[in-house]
Amino acid sequence: MEAKKKKKFGLTTRIFLGLILGGITGLIVHYLVPESTFRDTILINGVFNVIGTGFMRLMQMLVVPLVFFSIVAGSMAIGDTKKLGRVGLKTIAFYLVTTAIAITIALTVANIINPGFGLDMTSVVAEETTIDHTSAETGVDMLLGIIPKNPVAALAEGNMLQIIMFALLLGLILAHLGNKVPIISRVMNEGNDIMMTMTFIIMKVAPIGVFGLIAKTFSGIGFDGFLPMLKYMGSVIIALILQVGFTYSLILLVFGRTNPLAFLKKFAPVMGFAFSTASSGATVPINISTLDEMGISKKISAFTIPLGATINMDGTAIMQGVAVIFVAQAYGISLSLGDFITVIGTATMASVGTAAVPGVGLITLAMVFNSIGLPVEGIGLIMGIDRILDMARTAVNCTGDAIVTTVVSHQEGLFDRNQFEGKVQDDDDLLNLDDVDL
Ligand code: ASP
Repeated sequence: MEAKKKKKFGLTTRIFLGLILGGITGLIVHYLVPESTFRDTILINGVFNVIGTGFMRLMQMLVVPLVFFSIVAGSMAIGDTKKLGRVGLKTIAFYLVTTAIAITIALTVANIINPGFGLDMTSVVAEETTIDHTSAETGVDMLLGIIPKNPVAALAEGNMLQIIMFALLLGLILAHLGNKVPIISRVMNEGNDIMMTMTFIIMKVAPIGVFGLIAKTFSGIGFDGFLPMLKYMGSVIIALILQVGFTYSLILLVFGRTNPLAFLKKFAPVMGFAFSTASSGATVPINISTLDEMGISKKISAFTIPLGATINMDGTAIMQGVAVIFVAQAYGISLSLGDFITVIGTATMASVGTAAVPGVGLITLAMVFNSIGLPVEGIGLIMGIDRILDMARTAVNCTGDAIVTTVVSHQEGLFDRNQFEGKVQDDDDLLNLDDVDL
């Protein structure tokens, strides 16, 4: 990640260039190249398709091992919380509930705005990803289906809910056994590192992949693609604003007895930092020190903020909820209530499994898509515009961690109100990073 900054164009810029060039190429092909074998067979279904689909297959290749290792590693972190007992459990409960609310808001907003209507991708669906929505599962079947009869088969078939269930259990047990199982624990953590490295390597070819996907899309549909993409971005941003303005504000007021406006005013530098780095991991120190300045004890935040950066990603979940609706609509797939419930579950788990660095939310999105059978190549549609949304959602991810931390501190009597009130005017030393001891 460090190295890429030294290059002339960073990865983000290159992905964006891939998007623009792909869009222009696609439009030229759509409007200027007459229908012919060359255009349809060689260019659109040949070159563009091979580049785009090849890249999506690389992404799909990552999904099962990445999700498995990252959820094991993430739940090992949760398992550790027993040392904090009640505080740990309360924090985790808040984290999971706020994430589930976030996705629900996202699904609702996207269902109102309908970002994917008008983007007809039905003709572009690859054969192998044709959706099978014939099985009318009952609620009981669905619930039972989460338990894998054979975890190895679940991994081989890419059954996401079953993989999550098994990985969660494994991680919690490893954390519980602690020093008795150092080797397997290390293998899991190292597996996680390896898959992250593989992800970063594959992301290097993302600009070319995005070029192929977008060129193929736009050569098929021309200008019809722009408005839906803008609506997608708008839906994500509206849902992010609602999560902060409504969910967080209400939680702060009701459970934390704190004025949300005063809180957000003091907290703004952290959101700015998260926005510019697009990494909740990098934002951990400034998050802790700012909360400390605001009177929220490090006794709580030194534990809850790193944990939140690992398992609590409300902004990411929002993007995933909107993306589900966007892609389902674009591909003409209707989703059932069961699908929505599955999305709430898997996106909450994806939030546990998403690493706190830029762009990973897009990879774990593949797991959410898999869980309800949406075509993973749909991710290619939103990849080019993801970075700006990544910045915005990371700011929300970090705010969510801070809100829960504040509530828990308040309830544990570790919130210094005088300090909070007294610091209203004093924004200058919020950025003091010197006294963070993690
Ligand atoms: N960039 C996000 C974070 O670090 C993760 C993601 O959604 O890609 O919080």
